[in-house]
Amino acid sequence: MKIAFIGLGNMGGGMAANLAKAGHDVRAFDLSEAALAHARDAGCTDFSSAREAVEGVDAVVSMLPNGAIVDKVYTDEVIGHAPAGALLIDCSTIDIATARKVIDAAQASGYEMVDAPVSGGIAAANGGTLTFMVGGTDSAFARAEKVLDPMAKAVIRAGDAGAGQVAKMCNNMLLACHMIGTCEALKLAERNGLAMDKFHEISSKSTGYCWSLNDYTPAPGVGAASPADNGYAGGFAVALMLKDLRLAMDAAERSGAKVDLGSKAAEIYEAADAAGLGGKDFGAIFETL
Ligand code: NAD
Repeated sequence: MKIAFIGLGNMGGGMAANLAKAGHDVRAFDLSEAALAHARDAGCTDFSSAREAVEGVDAVVSMLPNGAIVDKVYTDEVIGHAPAGALLIDCSTIDIATARKVIDAAQASGYEMVDAPVSGGIAAANGGTLTFMVGGTDSAFARAEKVLDPMAKAVIRAGDAGAGQVAKMCNNMLLACHMIGTCEALKLAERNGLAMDKFHEISSKSTGYCWSLNDYTPAPGVGAASPADNGYAGGFAVALMLKDLRLAMDAAERSGAKVDLGSKAAEIYEAADAAGLGGKDFGAIFETL
């Protein structure tokens, strides 16, 4: 397939490379020359605008920083410029309202489009093991599955347009809560004379079991290997978790959902970001306790 890929950053760079590795003709665009050079090295063809990249393609995939940029790129460069019949797939994490607005505009111009945000960080993007949560019609999903497959461990239809973003936002609010809970429990154990690795051994086989404790232990030298063992470098940045929590808080307010723990988690990540931890892995909450 001919696939345009827009947004070749930390995530998009590896994703585009995996599409090229699978034999697709990948037409890449990013505002950054360094990102474009990287895509060229990975077997993609680079273009000097999104509008050029989408010419003659079967599908467009985007991985961009936020909703305002997604809206602008699709409105100005993709809709009306990609061939009629091209499938549009936005994998960025953005607010539900913008996702639905862009999909509506694409559909009004005769395109099928899905929102398909991902779980899994840079390593999963490079390794082709992302989980995609897809919002869109049955027919758009069936087409999207084939495009997403070389980048995926799992591709799951969440529901109609925007449902992928709902799944992503709720998943990450839950993740923020159990990460903070894990950090606090490890610290509380230690303060009360129970070694953190003993607590990890017990709780990871008890009802405290969760991904943050079992698979991504946020205390250095304890439990599973994680960025904590490397000064919280790499991994999933505090600033990105904060971005996702803000999307969740906004959606909670608009929908009248009660999210006391999520809201406390957002406050804690705001404080960590303000304290200069924005670039560190989100397990760095442990350092603030
Ligand atoms: P990034 O900043 O590394 O990459 C974004 C890229 O988009 C950059 O290369 C930038 O130059 C490019 N860009 C910006 N405006 C553009 C435009 N108008 N046209 C073309 N290119 C443009 O960010 P990232 O970490 O790759 O994240 C991308 C998306 O994936 C975000 O929505 C993020 O929330 C989501 N996400 C990130 C992670 C992660 O671990 N990094 C995990 C899951 C989801």
